[in-house]
Amino acid sequence: MGRQGILLVFSGPSGVGKGSICRALIKENPTIHLSVSATTRLPRSGEVHGVDYYFLDNNSFKKMIEEDELLEWAEVYGHFYGTPRRFLQEALDRGNDVILEIDIQGALQVKDRFPMAVLIFVVPPSRLALESRLRARGTDTREEIEKRLRCTEREIKMAWRYDYIVINDQLTRTLDTVRAIITAEKARPQRSQCLVRDLLR
Ligand code: 5GP
Repeated sequence: MGRQGILLVFSGPSGVGKGSICRALIKENPTIHLSVSATTRLPRSGEVHGVDYYFLDNNSFKKMIEEDELLEWAEVYGHFYGTPRRFLQEALDRGNDVILEIDIQGALQVKDRFPMAVLIFVVPPSRLALESRLRARGTDTREEIEKRLRCTEREIKMAWRYDYIVINDQLTRTLDTVRAIITAEKARPQRSQCLVRDLLR
């Protein structure tokens, strides 16, 4: 069997720019796949079912949990979110790298199941920067923004559980750091067992 893909998990406070980082990585390397999560949250304007999320009602989400179709799931900001298991495993087995953009509770469940997953926590350059980014995004109601800001402190306190912390100050710089992480992770001996075996043949 060839080399398995890397599972990259991005988390961080709402509005920190995880989406832009993931989109840029996929754009420059189409062999990286972004896992599409299931959620009970309503679609924001412009969001498409099956592209941004699988938008489900509570019953359908519960059914996915019961049938063990989710690798992890969590309640975030009052809605349920989860990672469908099937797509992810298939992509990794094909050797594709896979990106998950999920919250901390989910990321820690993933690390339990895939110890080689790479957990990256994205932080803003300052608290103020995060607040203005969240408000400028214009996609959430005022109540939703307040709810998300209240969770920020609790989320940042958990950042030490991650493998890397990346400050998203300027996207180009952030991407350089993330590319460096991916390159270094690919060189880990645990991921190069086939290569070492071939050299010893
Ligand atoms: P949003 O509603 O802004 O799209 O996402 C809210 C939060 O849910 C973000 O922190 C996002 O990373 C997280 N999230 C999105 N999909 C998943 C998922 O499949 N599992 C978990 N645990 N969190 C998710």
